[in-house]
Amino acid sequence: MLGGMTDEPSLDLALEANRRFAETFSPSEAGTPRLAVLLCMDARIDPIRALGLRYGHAHIIRNAGGRMADALRSLAISQRLVGTTEVAVIHHTECAMTTFSDADMHRRLREEAGVDAGDMAFLPFRDLDESVREDLRIYRESPLVRHDVPVRGFIYEVATGLLREVTEQGG
Ligand SMILES: [Zn+2]
Repeated sequence: MLGGMTDEPSLDLALEANRRFAETFSPSEAGTPRLAVLLCMDARIDPIRALGLRYGHAHIIRNAGGRMADALRSLAISQRLVGTTEVAVIHHTECAMTTFSDADMHRRLREEAGVDAGDMAFLPFRDLDESVREDLRIYRESPLVRHDVPVRGFIYEVATGLLREVTEQGG
């Protein structure tokens, strides 16, 4: 799933929560981010808690699937302008990206929105380990990002909250 289903007007609730938040807010001293984390936008993953990230210490780049092709722009900025020096790529179990194909999305957009998105890649995948390896390859082959820093891939198990590292060779 990419998100839960609800009938609540969740943006209205969020804006209300933000007003309460701002009442007692005071700006904190942020650290310098050294870690860039790329992960899926799935609402069940809370990377701040799951990775114990301290305030200001990581860039969190999220998109559907946590796909690298969508993240190179952000990673280039993260590395060149801010100076992050480690990258983690995190895909996860039960990801909605394994439930559709590009052809499915093209058909939906054609039927529901009347738009031809036939040349757009939505980057779904079937095999989790392979999708992580593919994204590590895309990183390694991109001239936009640094190749002198550690880049590691993981799968987050939504049932346990645990990360499992994906080795590049597989097996
Ligand atoms: Zn996902």
